[in-house]
Amino acid sequence: MSTVTYTIRRISEIIHARPSVTNESLIISRLVIDSRSMIDPENSLFFALSAKRDGHEYIPDAYAHGIRNFVISRTEFLADQKAGDYADANFLLVDDVLKALQELAVFNRRQYDTPVMAITGSNGKTIVKEWLYQLLAADFNIVRSPRSFNSQIGVPLSVWDLTEEHTLAIFEAGISKGEEMDALAAIIYPTVGILTNVGEAHAEGFSSQKEKLLEKLKLFKEADVFIYSPEYTQGIPKKDLPGNTKFSWSLTESADLQISFIEPIDDKNYIRAIFKGEEIECLIPFSDRASVENGIICWATLLSMGYSPEDADSRLEKLNRVGMRLELKHGINQCSVIDDSYSADISSLAIALDFLNLQNQHPKKTLILSDLYETGRKDEELYTEIAALLKQKQINRLIGVGPNISASASQFKLESSFYSSTQDFIDQFPAIHFNDETILLKGARRFEFERISKLITQKTHDTVLEIDLNALSGNLQFYRSKLKPGVKIMAMVKAFSYGSGSFEIANVLQYHKVDYLAVAFTDEGVALRKGGITMPIMVMSPEPSAFEAIVRYKLEPEIYNTDILNKFLNFLSDTEQQYPVHIKIDTGMHRLGFEEIDIPDLLMALNSNQKIRVQSSFSHLVGSEDIMHDEFTRHQLSRFTAMADTIREGLGYDFIRHISNTSGISRHPDAQLDMVRIGIGMYGYDGGIAQSKGLQPVAILKTTITQIKHIKPNETIGYGRKGILPEGGTTATVKIGYADGYDRRFGHGVGKMLIKGALVPTVGVICMDMCMLDVTGLDVQNGDEVIVFNGQLSIADLAQQIGTIPYEILTNISQRVKRVYFYE
Ligand SMILES: *Cc1c(COP(=O)(O)O)cnc(C)c1O
Repeated sequence: MSTVTYTIRRISEIIHARPSVTNESLIISRLVIDSRSMIDPENSLFFALSAKRDGHEYIPDAYAHGIRNFVISRTEFLADQKAGDYADANFLLVDDVLKALQELAVFNRRQYDTPVMAITGSNGKTIVKEWLYQLLAADFNIVRSPRSFNSQIGVPLSVWDLTEEHTLAIFEAGISKGEEMDALAAIIYPTVGILTNVGEAHAEGFSSQKEKLLEKLKLFKEADVFIYSPEYTQGIPKKDLPGNTKFSWSLTESADLQISFIEPIDDKNYIRAIFKGEEIECLIPFSDRASVENGIICWATLLSMGYSPEDADSRLEKLNRVGMRLELKHGINQCSVIDDSYSADISSLAIALDFLNLQNQHPKKTLILSDLYETGRKDEELYTEIAALLKQKQINRLIGVGPNISASASQFKLESSFYSSTQDFIDQFPAIHFNDETILLKGARRFEFERISKLITQKTHDTVLEIDLNALSGNLQFYRSKLKPGVKIMAMVKAFSYGSGSFEIANVLQYHKVDYLAVAFTDEGVALRKGGITMPIMVMSPEPSAFEAIVRYKLEPEIYNTDILNKFLNFLSDTEQQYPVHIKIDTGMHRLGFEEIDIPDLLMALNSNQKIRVQSSFSHLVGSEDIMHDEFTRHQLSRFTAMADTIREGLGYDFIRHISNTSGISRHPDAQLDMVRIGIGMYGYDGGIAQSKGLQPVAILKTTITQIKHIKPNETIGYGRKGILPEGGTTATVKIGYADGYDRRFGHGVGKMLIKGALVPTVGVICMDMCMLDVTGLDVQNGDEVIVFNGQLSIADLAQQIGTIPYEILTNISQRVKRVYFYE
């Protein structure tokens, strides 16, 4: 147990808060920034940070979940408390909530003289951190940042976890703009500094490479030891580098660890180096370049700590791949499976459980969990904590695998079953029932849970569309930051969220508290309701045959002419309630919508009975992305507001007005009105922003090579003998065709794909389920991954190749291509 305890009073002093506290001696054990992450709500302190959203908005939710302690900067909560709300809560009022969190971390760090390693660089930080953890966990009780918690917020949260029991800390720090590193340096206060690969990533916020590097090195200014490669510190004299002791490694120049030889052997790399005048060697069990470099950095770290070359080698050989992301896949028997069998400790378990709770599509939540290994903790204490966590996160079912968790079976008060080993589970699998559940699979490496994953996930054909849910949230935030205060957001999730998914996406948007969802057809709305979506949903084409479903599932129809209005009124004739609808106005698209001359009839129908309430009125811009149409856009806007005013006067009440789509938000701030409708921008493309700068690609379409063929000169390839390699060469057949949405127009070299970073053209025509690529001169094999599009080869590039728009590229991807969702 830690001897340092923080009472709410003590914390209040440390962060210089003006407290409004009902229980001064209450002990705080956890800091939280997310109203969902609650292991121990009574002893948690919630920081109302303005990250993606203003954290103050989550206070009611956090309070409802049992949290009673809050650090805030908005005073109205104190007034609410005086008025009787939050009577038993403790509020600590500060000017800047983030700064308060950081001050608390700085204070905690100074309580211990534990060695602290800090890792920074552009690439590889998380891998190096996780690998050092793997390499050193046998000798130290290590606290480390969970996943890539390397920000101004993640770092203080990680440093708070440092207690007296720990004998080593490993934290990573990332910065996206200058001047941030000073704050992180004070919080981490490292004794050992490790610089990873310094590349181009995140270069935008900096004026030059050197400025970026100097900024990163600020992290280490008080460090005792500095581990680095001179290749990344060029231009800075050695005497200006941090650290009393420096340990360098290099592939090209003389260094403490000077690499002399690298040879790939199967999927490993054998490396030799000169160290203290002797030749030493090691085997890194990975084939890719980045892993080799990260492995060398870990090698250098072990040697600098005094491990013998033999010991270092035998440890490095056993490194495991680090799973960076959680994957959501389709499972057997209508289940969804979250696959996280890479890291198994309690903090990553909490994160994975949050992801589980973000997905509401199944009534039941099941966890398959192996024994966990947390150095320095008794099993009893560990499994008691896990049991509390499962209760907190409302898990319905536990399947425990391993002798230790099985021995603690009595701790768990939920539906549970236990197996002594992974093999035992697999042997009994035919008798274990899974149906309509979200299953989280979480196991320590040695349990090889990928064998369980194979049993419970559906076989995917090898073409998958990967959806990055963090990027989606980031893009939403990008547009949110452009909105004036109070402007609402309707998220367009029609056409399977532009091809990206259905409730999987909607659940994330619901969590981020967008105000409305919109779908094209009733069926799409019904599917969302069945997937656990409770927020308002607008249906843009409400066919009369579906009115019953609309009302049953509380969907809100778009009313676009008098005919559909009358039919809907008729349908509602024996209900009492005022049903919410959305009135579509035609201001120039000439597709659907009421025109000016229809307004008197519309008002008459609406006013003559009280069955309907106008929730919103809207119109649609026809060219918001294009400067050429800006005048017409302004015309549409003024026409719309004038018509909306007439309707408002005629009805005698107010409603939400909206006209802007994605490019409207980025290009026409005056068109925000009361709400905006964001579509393709969420998915990473905006026709109104050059190269969609500032947006992150959300979808990556991948396939694999099924066969390699060597083609002689003048032989033909594919249907109709259309493909030809005049000089002969090599083709790769890949598993994607026009039935997957890879348009036939991509044939004959028009379309290109990426293999190992190289752009290769199609050859011949595109077949239904396959196509052929010219890979002449490349070293490729069966099973190699092929990128159809990603951040580098974008949907905008593909659209340009075949003369269409990115919208069509996305929505064409057929439903048989499995979607896999990622979350970090
Ligand atoms: C699809 C759609 C949008 C979203 O357009 P984006 O350009 O993808 O942002 C907005 N409004 C309506 C009515 C739509 O049908």
